[in-house]
Amino acid sequence: MANDLRFQVVGEAFKKKPLDVKAPSERPCEYFGKHVFNREKMYKYLPKDVYDKMVDVIDNGARLDRQVADAVAAGMMAWAKENGVTHYTHWFQPLTEGTAEKHDSFIEHDGKGGMIEEFSGKLLVQQEPDASSFPSGGIRSTFEARGYSAWDPTSPVFIIDDTLIIPTVFISYSGESLDYKAPLLRALKAVNVAATEVCHYFDPAVKKVTSNLGWEQEYFLVDEGLYAARPDLLLTGRTLMGHDSAKNQQMDDHYFGSIPERVAAFMRDLEIQALMLGIPCKTRHNEVAPNQFEVAPIFEDTNLAVDHNMLLMSLMKRVARKHGFRALLHEKPFAGINGSGKHNNWSLSTDTGVLLHAPGKTAEQNLRFATFIVETLMGVYKHNGLLKASIMSATNDKEDLFSMDGKQGMKLDIPEIPELLIDNTDRNRTSPFAFTGNRFEFRAVGSEANCASAMITLNSAVAEALASFKKRVDEKISDYSKKSEYSEGSGHSPVYHAIIDVLREDIKTCKPIRFDGNGYSDEWKAEAARRGLDTETSCPIIFERYLDKESIQMFESLGVMTKKELEARNEVKWETYTKKIQIEARVLGDLSMNHIIPVATSYQSQLLRNVERMSGVFSKEKANQLNARNLKLIEEIAERTATIETLVEELVEARKVANKIADEHQKAIAYHDTIAPMFDKIRYQIDKLELIVDDSLWPLPKYRELLFIR
Ligand code: ADP
Ligand code: MG
Repeated sequence: MANDLRFQVVGEAFKKKPLDVKAPSERPCEYFGKHVFNREKMYKYLPKDVYDKMVDVIDNGARLDRQVADAVAAGMMAWAKENGVTHYTHWFQPLTEGTAEKHDSFIEHDGKGGMIEEFSGKLLVQQEPDASSFPSGGIRSTFEARGYSAWDPTSPVFIIDDTLIIPTVFISYSGESLDYKAPLLRALKAVNVAATEVCHYFDPAVKKVTSNLGWEQEYFLVDEGLYAARPDLLLTGRTLMGHDSAKNQQMDDHYFGSIPERVAAFMRDLEIQALMLGIPCKTRHNEVAPNQFEVAPIFEDTNLAVDHNMLLMSLMKRVARKHGFRALLHEKPFAGINGSGKHNNWSLSTDTGVLLHAPGKTAEQNLRFATFIVETLMGVYKHNGLLKASIMSATNDKEDLFSMDGKQGMKLDIPEIPELLIDNTDRNRTSPFAFTGNRFEFRAVGSEANCASAMITLNSAVAEALASFKKRVDEKISDYSKKSEYSEGSGHSPVYHAIIDVLREDIKTCKPIRFDGNGYSDEWKAEAARRGLDTETSCPIIFERYLDKESIQMFESLGVMTKKELEARNEVKWETYTKKIQIEARVLGDLSMNHIIPVATSYQSQLLRNVERMSGVFSKEKANQLNARNLKLIEEIAERTATIETLVEELVEARKVANKIADEHQKAIAYHDTIAPMFDKIRYQIDKLELIVDDSLWPLPKYRELLFIR
């Protein structure tokens, strides 16, 4: 009996044609931001004084009062109505990753039996979603009533279909953040304050420092029919089994190769829609693995870039379905080929220019450059374990260590400080954190993750380092001012000498983070441990770094998160970790028992019948000879299915033991140590069976089909 479903979906996938995507009649610059209530729309739909007030709110963090909010809501409503919008929603980023929204329509009773449409400043500014089932790590216990969402005016409102979408923070009534955006906004404020003060040593005119983020989103596309026939992909986002395809990425023929037509149509569609939503998509290309791609916009202010990444991820899923694909954002959907990530290109800039540009023209520019580079490294060095924690998850468990490339010297032309040994040539792709000329690349961020997690920690770490730098420099300035050799007219000022001296100290201190070898090698692991860097590899244990004294001290002193918030968020992290592994364990167990073993057994029966019949036709001696191969297969199938069965039983038992643990932290550790390691053992047996069982019986689309069909 042939496995009809698999062949049917494979056949259909082959036949699919690219969708005809109608390009807008306008040029991209003209339709860019069409669905966004940006400054241009604000100017058009708001009275002049309200517009000015909003610009002050967005640019300078001015307070927003009720009258202004009402006027803004009225302008938004007018614009929304012209675009056929009937609903609005507060859009927020709960700790589950992804985004959440609850739509309300504009309609209200008019008191005369009819309906009117209404949208007030109050509705724009605050909402109370019935959000009691979002994870809060115990902060929002039932008696504390519900959390509420509050408008973030720095990220513009936009339209999707018939709905006006309002970016918001999500907080509990006692003021604790229950999302990613609230602490991110606080971290961005902290780095702005600390960096602006340091800038004043060099240029007193600087008013503001902005943190920038340019993400590069990697993803896989899989045909929707094949996806539906793989319960593991459907339920866990990755394949829990599947033998390597004979051909995968070894020819390097996919990377930057020409984009298949069906995919090109999808990319075009995605890009048009993203541009209309104000996401400045610029780059698209094939990635290393077959069916793997990347999209990257131009960098933006970090808060907006984070929102745009969340928006793009959900847009991508939608558009993919329209084209008969599923977009896989999981970090490791297929074994044996590259996984996906999301490089976070990060930099700081001032209202007067960029801050991290490779050595400038004057000694003063070079000193400022050196200051920001060295203090970023100081932050990364001090909190290397925490930064690793910020990118870790059950699906992004690559166990990277922290290091910076360091072979190439950077000539700073400042005689008093040594050449900075950090690479700005981007040769070493194994480093999870690299300097690439005018920005740092935080490369270890997961493809599925909310970039905010990494950005909260990085910006906080840099803010703390800059504040400490400032404090030490100021102390030295007051000392040096008393010394005659640093007085006016003797060359450089006390400020210059103070900065140089603190930088020299710090360059020595953060040396352990700079490494020029292969970041993946065992040699580096041993070396990193010697240098006192964090080498922990267990995801649930790495989360403990959030509760280290230095981490709590940093987040609290900057006003980013309190100890209580950090504890609650860790509860959520551990719980989420456990649930993800738990779901994978169940799916793997189920598929083993009701897909794999039955199919292998049925093939085994076919072989047995064949052996029996051969014995009826040939002499005993001849039959034994001819049956030898089949008998070996029969035995192999018996052994492998028995092993799978035993392992699945053990897996169930291990889960029962872990599930009894009440403490979320310990439970996650148990799932990590005793359950996750069994997956590969089971998978190994299944993948061997896939190779020997009759192809026409195998129920699950194989790697060669999932990865090579467009
Ligand atoms: P790669 O060579 O790493 O693929 P790209 O040139 O495609 O890099 O750019 C990657 C991302 O880095 C883009 O989003 C780009 O806008 C961003 N980027 C460039 N310069 C900066 C900067 N100074 N700060 C932050 N991001 C930047
Ligand atoms: Mg890059």
